[in-house]
Amino acid sequence: MRRKFRAKYEGKFRLKKEDVVEVIAGRYEDKGKRGKIIETIPDEGKVVVDGVNIATKHQRPRRATRATPKTQTGLIHTPAPLSAAKVMLVCPKCSKTTRISMGVTSDGTRSRRCTKCNELID
Ligand SMILES: [Zn+2]
Repeated sequence: MRRKFRAKYEGKFRLKKEDVVEVIAGRYEDKGKRGKIIETIPDEGKVVVDGVNIATKHQRPRRATRATPKTQTGLIHTPAPLSAAKVMLVCPKCSKTTRISMGVTSDGTRSRRCTKCNELID
């Protein structure tokens, strides 16, 4: 099924795959958890964080189709996407949750900078 996305986060999505983030809002049991981003969905402003926002799917046995190629059945626990606004980046240098400032380095590439310790993140 095709869905129409509003690109509401266009140009300001600052999280990347492999970033470590901390959950600051959302489900009670997930608050304060830290995990690595395993997928970003910039079109929806969402991220999938390892071990956070676990959704339990009750998958009935069915023939594999093109739309549902997974043949795993029973209870499946998978991390569901959650809004990027509910997570904060954990700075790899000072290990605090931080906002990100975007800057341009001397060689002209865009860079992310920790607003707390002012270190380059990558
Ligand atoms: Zn920092």
